[in-house]
Amino acid sequence: MKVLVLNSGSSSIKFQLFRSDDWSVPAAGSVTRIGEPEAVLRYSWTDAKGSAQTLEERAAMPDHQQGLQRIAGALARSGALADPAELLAVGHRVVHGGEAFHAPTCVDDDVIEAIRQVVPLAPLHNPANLDGILVARALFPNTPQVAVFDTAFHQTMPRTAYRYAISDDLYREHGVRRYGFHGTSHHYVGRRAAERLGKPFEQCNLITLHLGNGASATAIREGSSIDTSMGMTPLEGLVMGTRCGDIDPAVPFYLSQQLGLDNDRLEDLLNRQSGLLGLCGDNDLREIQRRAEEGDEAAELALGVTAHRLKKYIGAYLAELGRTDALVFTGGIGENSAELRARACGGLEPLGIQLDAEANAAASSEERAVSSPQSPIQVWVIPTNEELQIAREALAAVS
Ligand code: AMP
Repeated sequence: MKVLVLNSGSSSIKFQLFRSDDWSVPAAGSVTRIGEPEAVLRYSWTDAKGSAQTLEERAAMPDHQQGLQRIAGALARSGALADPAELLAVGHRVVHGGEAFHAPTCVDDDVIEAIRQVVPLAPLHNPANLDGILVARALFPNTPQVAVFDTAFHQTMPRTAYRYAISDDLYREHGVRRYGFHGTSHHYVGRRAAERLGKPFEQCNLITLHLGNGASATAIREGSSIDTSMGMTPLEGLVMGTRCGDIDPAVPFYLSQQLGLDNDRLEDLLNRQSGLLGLCGDNDLREIQRRAEEGDEAAELALGVTAHRLKKYIGAYLAELGRTDALVFTGGIGENSAELRARACGGLEPLGIQLDAEANAAASSEERAVSSPQSPIQVWVIPTNEELQIAREALAAVS
C-alpha cells in the first residue's frame, strides 16, 4: 500500500509516493510553472524491473487541478500507482494551522474552513495548500486526505514563549502571537537525533537548527517544542537567504517615513531583498563562502552576521533548556556547510559544545556526529526528510 505526499505552492506541486511497508519512494517529482503558458512535469520512478526512469513533459496546465491530473496520469501510466485504491492516505503540507491544529488532521469540510480562517496569517501559502487539498479530494475521492501543518509541532510552546509583549486584544482578536514554522523538519530531525542518542524522544532536550534558504532554531524539551525562532510569520528569527530575521520593529516605520515605502515595498524588502542577499548580494551560501575565502568583505560580513545570530539563539536555548543532550544541524546549509557550523559553535566550548574539527569538515550526506567524543553536548548533522515525516504522520492519522 502507498501514501502520496503533496506540497502545493502558488505555481507548483511537488510530490512523493511512499510505500507504507518500508517507506521507500517508488516515484517522485514536481509540476512547476502552473498557470504559465508552458508548465513542466518532472517525474522519476522505478519501473517494474527496478530500473530508475525519468521523464520531463511540457504542456499548458492552467491550474492545480490540471497539474495534479498530470501527476496522477504519470503515476498510473508508469505503474507506480496503477490503482488509486492502493493509496492509504494523501498527506498535504499546510504552512499555517494557527491555534486550531496541534497535530496532523484528517480533512473534512470543517477542517477546510478552519484552514481558510488562517489565510490572513499566511496569505502566500495557505491558499495554494488549500487548492492542493481540494483538487486531491476531487481526484482521489475515496482516499483520506490529511493536512500536516508546519506550525503544529510548536503548539506546545508555553504562553511565555509565544506571546508578544503587546496588547491582549491583538492576540485574542487578531491572533498576533508567535506560531513558529518548519515544525515537520524540527520534529523529524529531533526524533532521528533521539534514536541516534539511544534515548526516547520524550526524554531528550535538543536544539534543532534548520538552516536552508529559510532558517529556524527550535528548543525541544522532553520531545516538545518549547521555543522557536520564527514568529507570527517566517520572517522572524535567524538570518535567512533573503529574509532579514530579527530586526527592530521600528525600522519599517523609519523606512516608510524616510523613503516613502508602502507596505508592499516594505514586505518585499524584508522578505525577498534582505538576509544574506541584502548583506552581500548573494543568497547561495556556497558562493558566499567562496567569495569570503577570496577576501570579499561583504561576503565575510554576511557569514559573520549569520553566525552571530545563530550563536545568540543557541545560547538562549541552552539557557531555556538547562540540560541539553544535543545540537542538531539540518537543511541545505546545516547539512553541508562545515564553515557555518564551525562559526556558530566556535567559542561555545565552555558551555559544553565541542566540535570535532575533522568530523565537522568531512563532506557526507549521512547522519553523523560532528562533536568530539568528550563533548558534554553532542552535535549532530541529520539530513531532514519532511516528506517522509508527512507520509508517516498522514498514515498515523488515518490508522
Ligand atoms: P535548502 O533551502 O534547504 O535547500 O538550502 C539551500 C541553501 O543551502 C543555499 O543557501 C545553498 O547555498 C546551501 N547549500 C547547499 N549545498 C551547500 C554546500 N555544499 N555548502 C554550503 N551551502 C550549501
